[in-house]
This record gives sequence, structure tokens and C-alpha cells, in this order.
Amino acid sequence: MVVLTSSDTRRRLANPARLLLRRRAMIYPPTPARIGVNPDAAAPVHAGVNPAAAAPVHAGVNPAAGVDLLETDLVDRGWLLGPALRDALVRLDVAELVNVGATLLADCDALLGADRPHVPLFRDFPASTPDDTMAFFVDRILTAWFQTPDQPCVLCDTDDTVAPVNPCGHLVCRACFDGADFSACPICHRRINPDDPFVKPARPRPLRGESAAPERLRVLHLGFDQDADLRAELVGLLARTAALPPADADDLATLLALQPRIDLSWLPARVPGRETKARLLAWLLTDPLPAGALDRAAALVDTATDVLRLLVVRSDGDASLIGRPRLAPVPRPLRRALLGLLDCIGTVRLVDDMRRHRRAWIAVGEKLHPGEYADRYPAVALAFATLRCSDMTTLCPRTAVAGQVAEDVRIDDAGRVTVAVWGHRVESALADGDVATAVSLLAARPGELLRRLDHLLRLAATDEDLAAAFAALTAAAPQVSPAVLLSALGQVRTRTARHRTRVFFPAGRTSTAHVIDDERAVLPSGVVARAVDILQAEALRRAATLRRVDRAVIDTGLDGLVVPFAERTAARALLTLARGSVLPVPHGRYLRLFCHWMQNTDGPRVDLDLSVALYSEAWEHIGTCDYTSLRVAGAVHSGDLTSAPPPLGASEFVDLDINALAVAGVRYAVMVVLSYNNVAFTDMAEAFAGLMLRSAPPKRGEVFDALAVEQRFDLTGPGKVTMPFVVDLAEETMRWMDVTARVTGTNHAVHRHH
Ligand SMILES: [Zn+2]
Ligand SMILES: [Zn+2]
Repeated sequence: MVVLTSSDTRRRLANPARLLLRRRAMIYPPTPARIGVNPDAAAPVHAGVNPAAAAPVHAGVNPAAGVDLLETDLVDRGWLLGPALRDALVRLDVAELVNVGATLLADCDALLGADRPHVPLFRDFPASTPDDTMAFFVDRILTAWFQTPDQPCVLCDTDDTVAPVNPCGHLVCRACFDGADFSACPICHRRINPDDPFVKPARPRPLRGESAAPERLRVLHLGFDQDADLRAELVGLLARTAALPPADADDLATLLALQPRIDLSWLPARVPGRETKARLLAWLLTDPLPAGALDRAAALVDTATDVLRLLVVRSDGDASLIGRPRLAPVPRPLRRALLGLLDCIGTVRLVDDMRRHRRAWIAVGEKLHPGEYADRYPAVALAFATLRCSDMTTLCPRTAVAGQVAEDVRIDDAGRVTVAVWGHRVESALADGDVATAVSLLAARPGELLRRLDHLLRLAATDEDLAAAFAALTAAAPQVSPAVLLSALGQVRTRTARHRTRVFFPAGRTSTAHVIDDERAVLPSGVVARAVDILQAEALRRAATLRRVDRAVIDTGLDGLVVPFAERTAARALLTLARGSVLPVPHGRYLRLFCHWMQNTDGPRVDLDLSVALYSEAWEHIGTCDYTSLRVAGAVHSGDLTSAPPPLGASEFVDLDINALAVAGVRYAVMVVLSYNNVAFTDMAEAFAGLMLRSAPPKRGEVFDALAVEQRFDLTGPGKVTMPFVVDLAEETMRWMDVTARVTGTNHAVHRHH
């Protein structure tokens, strides 16, 4: 039996070939060393390859014909072969072509979610979805309550048609419920054992003919040096300034694991992304330490938080430091090395950094034992003593001489350490309205200065204050990351007008957005204009240093995409979008939403519910298409599956007929996936959802159409409710929301979470 665990979802896409297919759309066929080999040579079926995917190329087919077949199968999935790749594939011998083709098709299927069986409750969905959910519900209740094994059917009064199904034991009438349509128990909707006589073989279904080429159509290219391209992807990820989205963080882990740690010469001198740096350090400092690793690590670490993140990441924790970290033991050599790195930072900066994550640092103290090394690393011992408010005289009598021990560090007669930290001084200055002091302190940390710009400009009462603030801004702007620069610019230029509310998305993986009234005073237009001038000039200065292009063509479709600044929580998706981005839904298409999940072999039963809430132009709730109402206006549900054991798992679909919904007054359709019995997404073997766009109204046939898939994303993390996107039927757009929430209790339904 195949044992499935929660990490399978992530591992599924974690191999070098899939990584390069996803990131570069590149394929690396073997060099055609054996050109001229008899093309009729037997083509072995390779172990581990999906036999369905291996089907297109057979022994006895010549390579050109084989490539034609492969191309047809790729087009069915929304990929095309580039000319150079096609030429290279034609030159392979048949066995190699079979291997390359099967692997490629399996990789494409995995990206789309087509590598899993998709069997909805009603196999003839949408045709066989009941019109009246309530009547269907009543039949189920009557059967569950009143049917006995030796009586005629309570619904149709026929004799000898009732028998239990396995394993739930519900007594199901073969005349009332069609085993060729139901893929699960008609009463409780749990999966039935595949060999149960109620389950009849599925009717053959046509596969295609309803879908035009997808919007995401991509050309596959010929790659030459897979190792060099993997290295280039790794170096590219290490150069990114912002926190990586989960999909990229997974890729970083895959890419690092591929690198031998003998040669570290390729390592960049600087890694701007803090979380990325922690992942690199954790890789670098894994036992046994390679030669030169400590020196490399020392060159990369420049704040105490770098060390904290490293300790959290090497304990398999979250690099964002959200939540309470659990820390793995630290071997003695690494402990000494880290204390040495921290000691170089100095007590004041250590305390300043440590106070931001005080609880985590107290836990770190229990692993690093700074007191034992107080003589060698006194700055660290002082910092930990400050953090724990402990008595230095007992901790380290030699270090603890009352009085000033360093700039801004004092020890009183009772042995208590006090440190005048930067953050506290900035807050005090801002609270006192002392702009000059705040500016001079913030000038030392350019990123903080830009984040506090609005606050400084609101406080600046005199021309001198403003002049100081703008001088500091001019000096700081060239030193900050693009995300900080452009965020400050985007924010400050809206500040001449009054806004009703401010919305905050907390940094965690599951979040409820906070909405507060905007009570800030507007800024004078002259002040805003000066700030915008400085920030815009810096943005243009940076742009001017980039490589020149002769002709730039800008896709107007990009207008709807949000620049991805904060992607830490972005979904692992076929199409990576920043939250808030808008994509067109091509006119005249029919939407089919899908959701597939599989419970852990030894885990709890998992009941996910795919739901669509329908709203009017004024956001009045018109209806909800979910397990409580399977047909609403132009929305049809494929039936509520309530368990998802291997091998089938469970799939739910909702079809949206845009015209019919518009006639019913629907403007917005909100997709929601809820975990009905409150199992977190992270506690199931796998879960993903997505969207297909079809060109004809689907009546019958294969429910999962790989060609029509425009988006597929993993449902992961500790959340139990996710709202991926909202369709605006009037604008014919889809707005990517990607909000995952933690909720409590069970029996979740979309209408309880307006
Ligand atoms: Zn019956
Ligand atoms: Zn049942």
C-alpha cells in the first residue's frame, strides 16, 4: 500500500527537471550519441513512469512520428515544442524519446494537477447533478433513518434492491441510486471500496473537443547545460531582495541540496534577502562543516537576527520568525562559532536586534549557553543578561564591574545591565515630536527611515524639520531595496487625499486582514511632491543603470498585475500572482473550478468543501453553490464528497455559466475552499485547487480537462479556509485574493463566513 503523508504535495514538484520546466520552460534531452541506431529497437517501458503518459510512443514508431505524437499530447496540456527542441528530439533514438516524452508529460501533468484521478461524486457531472438538493437530502435522510435490510426500499417500495455498501454500511437501493453515476455512498458521500458491487464501471467519456488554447500556452525550449542552468537559478534566487514565496523557497531548498559543499567559490559575497540568507547559512553550516564554511558564514552574518533565523531554519522552523520557534540542539563547535559571530556585533546592537524577538532569543540562550563563555564573548553575555534581566555579578563576576562598560551600556551596583537601544530612542523621539533627533537616529538605518517617512513628515512642523527629513531621505534612498523604495513612493503619493480606511495583511501564513479607520492627517501637497521627487529620481537613477534595450514592448495586460513585493505567503501555483492582481477572463468562456484532496493513510477523514458564494453588484448575497444547494442560478456543483482515502482521494467541481449568472443578477462569484471537519490543509496528504476555462458549455464527458487548466495552486499551511479569487462577471476579470484563514470549530460553510 502506498503511504501518503503531508509532505508529498511539496515533494511532488521538487526535482531538477520539473523545477527547470516550471521556471524556464526548458527541456534537456540526452545528447544524441547514438544517431543511426535502428529506430525499430525495442522501447522499454520505464519503471516509475505513469503508463498512461508513456503511451504515445511505441516500439516500432520512428522518432519523427514519435515526436508528432508527443507534440499532440503536449498541446493537449497547453505546451508547444520550440523548433530547436523539436529538432533535438527527432534525433533521439526511440528508447530515449520514450523516456524523455513520458517524463515530460508526467511533469506537465503534475504542474496542472492532471496526474491525479478526478472522480466527482456524480460521475456524469454536470448532467447528473440533482436539480433539487433538498429533495435529494430528504431521500438520503429517509434512507439513513428508516431503511432496514429485509424491507423493500423506503423510497420506491421495490423488493430485493437494497444492500449495504462498504465500508460505511448504509443500505442503498440499486433502483433509486445509479452505481454508474455515484462514485461514493449516496447516503453519506464517503468513498466506497472500489470492489463493492454497487460501484459499476464508469461509462467511457470523450476526452476533448471543448477547449480552445489556454491563455497560459507556453513554448518549451531546448536546454543545453542543466547543471549550469540550475546553478544560475540558485544564484538568481540568492540575489533576490525580498522574502521568497513558498514555491521559490522550496526551489531554493532543492537547488541547494543539489550543490556539492566541497567547492564554495560560487557563493555570493552578499545575500540581500534575510530569510534566503538564513536558508543558505543553514545549508552551509550543516554537519560535517565543509572547509571554509565558518569564514563564509561569518562574512554573510551582519545582524543578530541573521543568527536567530539560521537557528530556526536549521530546526525546520519558519524563516519569517512568525510564531514561537522550536530549536534543535546546537553542537559545540557551531555554538562557539555563533557566539563569536554575535560578539563582533556588539552589545548595543545585539540588544536592539534581540528585543524584537525576545522570547525566541531567551530560547536561543538555553541552546547557546552564553554564560559559560562570558569571558570569551562578553558582549554576548551582557546582551543576554539584559534580555533576561539577570544579575551579571553572579553570571560573570569578571565582566560585571558596576559602571559604564561600553558606550550606552551600564551595569548598576545590583549587577543589572541597562542598554540605551536605538529602537527605544527612535520611538521616544517620535513620541516627543523631536523630528531632528528622530531623523538623525533613523539616518543610520535607511530602510527604517523610509518606513517611518510618513510619520516624520506628519510631525515635521518647521522648515528646518522638513529640510532635515528630506536631506536624510535623499541620503537613504539609494541604500534601500527596490521593494522599500517603491512601497514608500506608492504610499506617500496617495497622502494628499483623505482615505476612509487602512488595510493591513499580517505577515503570517494564515491571516485575517485588519481594517482600521484612517485617522492620519493628510500631508500638504508641496511636502508630498518633494518626497515623490526624491523617491522617483532614485527609482529612475536605478532604471538608468540597467541594460538598455532598443525597443520595449509592454503588454497592456500587465496593467492588472500587482508588483510582487510581499510574496512570503504566495500560494504555490501554476501561475504565480501577487495578491490583488487582476487577470482577464476571456469573453464567452465557461469556468470550471476544481478542488482535489487526499487524506493521510493513517490520518483523520478529511472533508473539504468547494463553495462559490454569489453576490450582486452591491455585494448583496444572492446565493451559494455548495453542498447545501447544488444548483444555483448558473452554478452547478459536482456533489459533496466527505472522505478522500487513497487511491482516488476526492474531487469537487463547480461550473459557472457566466451568462446565466449575469441574468440572475450575479456580479461577483467568490471561490472558497473550507475544511468542513476542521482538519488543517497541512494535515492531509495533498490538496490543491484551480480553475479551468472552457469554450463550450460542458454537458458530459471527462470532468478534468488538462488543456483548459489556467490555474492550479496547492492548499497548504495551517489554515482551514481559503479564498483564492473573486470573479467579476461584469468586468470579465478574475482578482487573485489568496487569503487563507484560521478558523475554529467544525461544520464550516461559506455563508457562515461572510
Ligand atoms: Zn429504491
Ligand atoms: Zn454511507
